[in-house]
Amino acid sequence: MEESNNYGHQHSLLLILNQDQLIHNQSVVTDCSRCGEKVSAPCFCCAEHCGFYLHKVCAEAPLELNHPFHPHHPFLLMQNAPYSSGRYICNFCDKGGNEFVYHCSCHFDFHIQCALFTFNIAENNLKELEHVAFKMKNLKMILSALGARNH
Ligand SMILES: [Zn+2]
Ligand SMILES: [Zn+2]
Ligand SMILES: [Zn+2]
Ligand SMILES: [Zn+2]
Repeated sequence: MEESNNYGHQHSLLLILNQDQLIHNQSVVTDCSRCGEKVSAPCFCCAEHCGFYLHKVCAEAPLELNHPFHPHHPFLLMQNAPYSSGRYICNFCDKGGNEFVYHCSCHFDFHIQCALFTFNIAENNLKELEHVAFKMKNLKMILSALGARNH
């Protein structure tokens, strides 16, 4: 247990590894405080039960992602998209977001999970991808989008 690592939360966090444990800990369906998606195991929950949840992938997302599909700039993890509306459209899944975003200066924006998903594809971590395999159809699109913007 890494008790000192609370990912910026004021209380200590518990690591929940399986879905049963999560359901047991959760009184209502909750969203991840980083990506805004519903939490699913593995994730962290607040040991004080204040309602704070965080996907494990979101908690461990690096502040700077050197994405192999876009080697020219790193993607920076930002709390809000740097647009006046604060909203962005993810270049991978085409859905909007107003939570944490991986942003690159040439206007690529990715949800945390989408950025890590494409990163894992590039790194051939195929095992991690089984649960998000339905997004594969978007892969061609993102590859051509990224390729077209190479500079
Ligand atoms: Zn999350
Ligand atoms: Zn808390
Ligand atoms: Zn996305
Ligand atoms: Zn760029």
